[in-house]
Amino acid sequence: MLLWVMLACVGTADSKALQERQRQQMARGLPKQKPITGVKQVIVVASGKGGVGKSTTAVNLALGLTAVNPSKSVGVLDADVHGPSIPKLMNLKGNPELTDNNLMIPLTNYGIPCMSMGFLVDDAAPIVWRGLMVMSAIEKLLRQVNWGSLDYLVVDMPPGTGDVQLSISQNIPVAGAVIVSTPQDIALLDARRGAEMFKKVNVPVLGLVQNMSVFQCPNCHHQTHIFGSDGARRLAETLGVHFLGDIPLHLNIREMSDRGQPVVVSSPDSPEVSPLVHSVASL
Ligand code: ADP
Repeated sequence: MLLWVMLACVGTADSKALQERQRQQMARGLPKQKPITGVKQVIVVASGKGGVGKSTTAVNLALGLTAVNPSKSVGVLDADVHGPSIPKLMNLKGNPELTDNNLMIPLTNYGIPCMSMGFLVDDAAPIVWRGLMVMSAIEKLLRQVNWGSLDYLVVDMPPGTGDVQLSISQNIPVAGAVIVSTPQDIALLDARRGAEMFKKVNVPVLGLVQNMSVFQCPNCHHQTHIFGSDGARRLAETLGVHFLGDIPLHLNIREMSDRGQPVVVSSPDSPEVSPLVHSVASL
């Protein structure tokens, strides 16, 4: 019996030493985080799946942040290099000008400076890049932009949990991640993977936004939960993170987004927009 106790003690001491060694090696192996010049806080908006409303939420979150705190300056970085949608959502077009020291000057609309790969390549040109080219594009978008002075930079991440997401989370200090999901199981599975990835790289998950939860027929007002109900709320509970808001599936959100007039500025007082503003206020 005594032998087992002694072995157990040695084992615990050994495993503690091993854990400490692994921690030191991890710390040595990880890239050193370097802040983005002029930016105080970076908030990333992520989703497991594409098409769940991540970019729509990102722009409205950025606009909501300035609406809630008018004295704060907010910018948007579109890190979705394969499918940049910020130019359309923010109604912006054109090539960024350069400063004397060759930094790109973001394009601005609604008071929000934005940078996107969409400003640098042709609209219709498919971005068929291999991993290394994508990483080098991300590095340029992170380091070669003159943001001036920003309180918040909202980063619209590409969907998923791949190299780009990891590299952004490890190379710059990220204040927190907002995860967007529909209430559907298949989207929630990936949202959960996203949340776990951020936890692993020590990025605080600020909360989950449930998007497209309920559709209300404009004629008879009957409500339908097309993608299920409350899945993201339950996932937030399971993960122990905040549930930031429940945004309905609404024609106005789609139409205004397509026109480049985000709903937080074009229809701030409509009922479908208040959950968006509420989610910003609870950040
Ligand atoms: P992601 O960035 O996750 O790929 P997007 O933000 O581009 O998704 O949204 C995908 C499509 O869904 C867009 O056409 C957008 O206008 C629409 N959309 C997003 N959220 C809503 C919503 N709550 N109601 C209606 N349409 C929405």
